[in-house]
Amino acid sequence: MKLFAVFGNPINHSKSPILHNFVFYKLGIDARYIRYLLESSDNFRDLFFSLGLNGANITLPYKESLVKYCDEIRGIAKNIGAINTIVREDSNLIGYNTDGIGFYKNIENENIKNALILGAGGSARVIAFVLRQHNINVNIANRNSKNLDFFHNNGFKVCLNNEIVYNESFDIIINATSSSINDSLPIPRNNLENLFSKTNIAFDLMYGRECRFLELAKIENLKRNNLKTQNIKIIDGSKMLLYQAISASSLFLNIEENIIAKPMKEMYSIINL
Ligand code: NDP
Repeated sequence: MKLFAVFGNPINHSKSPILHNFVFYKLGIDARYIRYLLESSDNFRDLFFSLGLNGANITLPYKESLVKYCDEIRGIAKNIGAINTIVREDSNLIGYNTDGIGFYKNIENENIKNALILGAGGSARVIAFVLRQHNINVNIANRNSKNLDFFHNNGFKVCLNNEIVYNESFDIIINATSSSINDSLPIPRNNLENLFSKTNIAFDLMYGRECRFLELAKIENLKRNNLKTQNIKIIDGSKMLLYQAISASSLFLNIEENIIAKPMKEMYSIINL
């Protein structure tokens, strides 16, 4: 039997085991996927092998600190120095990051030329690179300059939140901050209203509950309904989670994503992330 795990702290909330185990069940694969509360990243490699794992997902707060235990990093994870998936190939651990694919799948059919990312943490990094891979012009704004250095050094346009140019319009505004966890807005309300008045898509990475960022986008849509103009498309982070899991499962099992997608989407619709 193959064994997989998701490592993080906290980890009890993770829906990954439900999604992955359902795929194994539906595809008749002899495998199990478990949650593992990781207290520290020390000796992770020994732990991985002593558990007899074939692969793993990595979530907060270890996406960066576990990179050093991999023998090779592939794809976009190399650009950003953060992984969310590890696959064992013989005695080697290969690190990947499928969050970017997970994000992009939500918008692949949209016509987006320029994007504004609010926040400069780990998820902003992966989103910035995946958007650039698709020739989308990326702007990043954050509340402090320290975390903007990475983006600046990689050739992205950056500014502090209070330097956002409000007469510019962005096709998509992405909230990649943790503000929604704290039930707050990433930038002052009137500034966000200004941005929303000129955008087509509002995307918040948060999932599982209402957030103030997307509530404000819905208010903008009420105004647009009255004016009979096109609504903002509103997207939360639930499908990003789904698609990163489809991509990770495809790497774990070496099976095409479209075969994984069918059962995983079936379970996703049942658990209503
Ligand atoms: P990080 O901690 O790496 O980065 C958080 C960023 O948000 C930092 O730039 C931080 O600013 C900024 N920030 C935090 N609080 C506020 C606030 N109140 N106002 C303005 N800016 C703020 O987090 P991640 O990038 O890993 O995750 C960000 C969010 O995305 C989380 O809510 C996470 O749950 C979600 N997420 C969702 C995924 C999905 O699959 N749907 C996948 C990954 C993440 P500073 O630089 O000043 O500290």
